[in-house]
Amino acid sequence: MRIETLAIHAGRSIEPASGGVSASLHLATTFERAEDGSYPKGHIYSRESQPNRADLERCLAALEGGASAAAFASGSAATSTLLQALAPGDHVIAPDDVFYGTRQLLSETFGAWGLESSFVDLSDLAAVERALRPTTRLVWLETPSNPLLGIADVSAVAAIAERAKSRGALTLVDNTWATPVLQRPLELGADLVLHSTTKYLGGHCDVLGGALVAREENPLFARVRRLQASAGAGASAFDSWLVLRGIRTLPARMRLHCENAARLATFLEAHAGVEKVFFPGLPAHPGHEVAKRQMSAWGGMLSFVVPGGRARAFEVAAKVKVFTRATSLGGVESLIEHRASVEGAHTRAPEGLLRVSVGLEHPDDLIEDLDRALR
Ligand SMILES: *Cc1c(COP(=O)(O)O)cnc(C)c1O
Repeated sequence: MRIETLAIHAGRSIEPASGGVSASLHLATTFERAEDGSYPKGHIYSRESQPNRADLERCLAALEGGASAAAFASGSAATSTLLQALAPGDHVIAPDDVFYGTRQLLSETFGAWGLESSFVDLSDLAAVERALRPTTRLVWLETPSNPLLGIADVSAVAAIAERAKSRGALTLVDNTWATPVLQRPLELGADLVLHSTTKYLGGHCDVLGGALVAREENPLFARVRRLQASAGAGASAFDSWLVLRGIRTLPARMRLHCENAARLATFLEAHAGVEKVFFPGLPAHPGHEVAKRQMSAWGGMLSFVVPGGRARAFEVAAKVKVFTRATSLGGVESLIEHRASVEGAHTRAPEGLLRVSVGLEHPDDLIEDLDRALR
């Protein structure tokens, strides 16, 4: 089935007690054992597994074309659970423009615990090759990246990691920005996919969540599963229910996000008050050709730089009426954010950069709003 159909039907069943066409919310923390001591419905205690999370996990695995998925309380909980499943002394290669929260977890939290990481420019394949060590267990990609919309070639990086696979190296793609609607990492050669479902999958800025999807069962993912059950970072019943509800409209929403973002990028690129636009759909973007090969559309995120640095960027952001000044992305409402002041010391964002999560409003209203603010 196509993704539009999977998004609506995967992980769905008619509610046996009522005949309801959508799942009920199951708040029970504990589940009855049969007389012979077995668990007839497969659940024991909700930290380990529960029905709404199980529905969501079946849906996520189907959407990414994976064998198995694990849903977490946030994208960062998914990241930390995966890193906990590694061992002290193991080595991770990550992009030098990886999501700043991931960078913090890798270098501070897990660095102190003995995990080693190298941050490299993933568009430099020779640098990725040089960074490989006998202890490399994970090559992490994030494409498009934040906030410069950098594009990494998933197949090319996965092919390099493949050579180290006999020593246990797996490739992971953080597919939060592209979503499985626009980009299929497991088909491009990756072993694992990570999501912050807080973003496009949830889609309404009202639920925090994360997920890992594995192409096939492997020892690392088995440890992730055990940690999900034992360490307690699994997604709650209500959060799972909300994310699954968001996913039902994901393919339809993505189509409109992409259409609106492309309109806005073209408008901004031609605007006299804008110095530079970062959007992979623009032919001048350095990742344009790779993005064309591995994505079915350009996504709903873009960044632009205004001349005049931080002061001017704040001035523009202060004047918008339709956009909301806020962090995060992937909701139905358009958001605008000055990235450098959020990311702090290690930021790669120019001071004049504003990042935009293009929502589902009418594109003319968005264009008029930005035009007014830029004037
Ligand atoms: C938001 C985000 C995360 C972290 O997810 P949370 O749900 O906020 O913990 C990780 N990666 C990317 C690309 C993100 O945008």
